[in-house]
Amino acid sequence: MLLEGKRGLIVGVANKRSIAWAIAQAAHREGAKLAFTYQGERLKESVSELSATLGGASPLFECDVTNDAQIDATFQGLKEVFGTLDFLIHAVAFAKKEELEAEFLITSREGYRLALDVSSYSLTALAQRAVPFMTDGGSIVALTYYGAEKVIPRYNVMGVAKAALEASVRYLAFDLGPKKVRVNALSSGPVQTLAARGISGFTDMMKHVESRAPLRRNVLIEEVANAAVFLLSPLSSGITGETLYVDCGYNIVGM
Ligand code: NAD
Repeated sequence: MLLEGKRGLIVGVANKRSIAWAIAQAAHREGAKLAFTYQGERLKESVSELSATLGGASPLFECDVTNDAQIDATFQGLKEVFGTLDFLIHAVAFAKKEELEAEFLITSREGYRLALDVSSYSLTALAQRAVPFMTDGGSIVALTYYGAEKVIPRYNVMGVAKAALEASVRYLAFDLGPKKVRVNALSSGPVQTLAARGISGFTDMMKHVESRAPLRRNVLIEEVANAAVFLLSPLSSGITGETLYVDCGYNIVGM
């Protein structure tokens, strides 16, 4: 029970395939009490049904991360139900479909702004509101991808957004260290999810990883979730500002 007595907010569950949902299940298994957000009415039922399977009603808040009023309302609601917070999972990303199909060169100003707002700035917006509730220290984990660091064809503006996300993790870790709040990025290998379906050629990416990664397979979503639990738990108490790869070793290979 690595997270016994801890309270956490999970941002980014869309459906049962979401990485955030796998993390929620693993955190629940380890004893955490969880609250969830959902992006708009469209996803409310799905998140509500999933969270109900954890036993007992979990607090749910509507939160589009581009909407400051909804972020404020989420943390106001959390204050009432939880009082304090120990961890936050950020598993949110979005880019226009057409900008994940062709060359990076065609990225529009609006597409760039949107991808960076949803996928990178949102971490800082959420951290600003979460930290006052982390009165006994805390852990913030953001999901990222190797396309932040190397060119992954067609990942395009999302790679730029993930690079900004990883840099934000380091700056936030520096600011929040004195408050005993740790901030880390978890870089997952490709996993079949709703968001992944938006990236053209995703199946080829998975085949490529399988042939090249040292472990000769793709990562399992449960492995990503267990690594997230590690980053949320006291087992990782000396780690902050880091990007942890959970990708069957793919990132270490040069050719
Ligand atoms: P997913 O589609 O299940 O989750 C993406 C989530 O982002 C959804 O819940 C969606 O509602 C949310 N979202 C998008 N725009 C939002 C907005 N404006 N406000 C609030 N929420 C918004 O897909 P996933 O693959 O589980 O993605 C979770 C995270 O993991 C993302 O950051 C993604 O980039 C990252 N990631 C995924 C993979 C992969 O291969 N699936 C690999 C590495 C990192």
